[in-house]
Amino acid sequence: MPTGLIAGGGIAGMAAGLALARAGWQVELVETAPALGEVGAGLQIGANAAKALDWLGVLPEARAQASHPDRAEIRNGVTGGLLLSLPLGPRAERRWGAPYLQLHRADLLAILTRAAEAAGVTLRLGTRAQRVVTHGTHAALHLEDGAIHHGDLVLGADGIRSTLRGGLNRDEEARFTGQIAWRALIPAERLSTPPESAATVWAGPGGHLVTYPLRSGSLINLVAVREQSDWAEEGWSLPGDPDALRIAFHGWHARPREILEAVDHCFLWGLFDRPAQVRWSSGRLALIGDAAHPMLPFLAQGAGQALEDAVVLARHLARAGEAAIPEALSAWEEERWPRVARVIRRAEANGRLFHARSAWRHWPLAMASRLAPDLAAGLAAGRLDWLYGYDPRPRP
Ligand code: FAD
Repeated sequence: MPTGLIAGGGIAGMAAGLALARAGWQVELVETAPALGEVGAGLQIGANAAKALDWLGVLPEARAQASHPDRAEIRNGVTGGLLLSLPLGPRAERRWGAPYLQLHRADLLAILTRAAEAAGVTLRLGTRAQRVVTHGTHAALHLEDGAIHHGDLVLGADGIRSTLRGGLNRDEEARFTGQIAWRALIPAERLSTPPESAATVWAGPGGHLVTYPLRSGSLINLVAVREQSDWAEEGWSLPGDPDALRIAFHGWHARPREILEAVDHCFLWGLFDRPAQVRWSSGRLALIGDAAHPMLPFLAQGAGQALEDAVVLARHLARAGEAAIPEALSAWEEERWPRVARVIRRAEANGRLFHARSAWRHWPLAMASRLAPDLAAGLAAGRLDWLYGYDPRPRP
């Protein structure tokens, strides 16, 4: 049985561990943190990623724990005016072949972890991977505690600040994108009206807010993004100051303001990326998820792309014998790169649209939504078919 070693127990690492175990591999996963889970935050899981969860065998559980938005909306963050409303729910599920889900990251990670352990993945927490040495037919993963583990393949799923990435690429520092994001979870009972069953982007000059319900509407997930010229902090995720968050969106519309007023804890992230054209694999080492392709979160696809990576990788490895692992990794990277690059570009374009300083940039959307809402929604759905209609599952 081939052996896979994975560094990193986030969504990418856990999904990859589960995918390989389902493809008949023996898998060991090491994670620096002494316990799994992270800053509480929501994740939107589009139909493309839901299909990956389906192949991983966890879609029913994810569906049961998720919130199911009726629609995605873009609104003017200052006036509240509707710019675009895209139906989700059953209509979108029929169009794209899987549901659109909103999940607490900790819930999704717990679902993947339970399934991975049940499939035989061994987890080693509180262990840091340091480097990988590949020798022809096998790879050695060196851990910080001095231990060396040997396998047929090592996956670096160690996030945007990946250590293992240095084994493949010139070690370029992650680059600050000039944008910061606060994340908060707010008990819905603090609001005067229950949260709407929608994922709403509130777009305004130099920033935007995203709000959506989680856990049967008992929580509101808030992401608040602002352009800012520098990031002087040491880390990239820090406790944030709710008052600074409120000041950053002073003068915005009453509904997002009400949500901001209810924040009493938040985290602040500097949004970083890395040069996109890097190698993801060589020999028996491959990078996956944010370690390979960090992206701005403005298309809500970072975790989704990590889930797709895992399923497509398992498909390529299942076809290859143990000797052909390097070729399978190259074929996987070749298949994945154009799609991930398109997602990265579209997320950047969304940032420009959401943060437009001139109201004229939003005018065509606002007019179309007012005069021909069904046509506008149909056109918007058509422009997303490539993203959500994609199916990473192996064809029978
Ligand atoms: P990570 O989650 O960073 O996991 C890496 C893991 O590796 C960590 O557990 C870390 O402790 C561990 N690790 C690090 N170094 C080592 C080492 N040397 N040895 C062992 N372990 C190590 N995506 C979506 O799909 N939908 C969304 O709605 C969405 N919203 C977002 C909103 C914001 C504001 C942000 C910032 C991101 C959002 N994303 C979203 C993106 C998504 O969160 C990430 O793309 C995804 O979580 C990346 O997962 P990962 O496993 O690759 O990396």
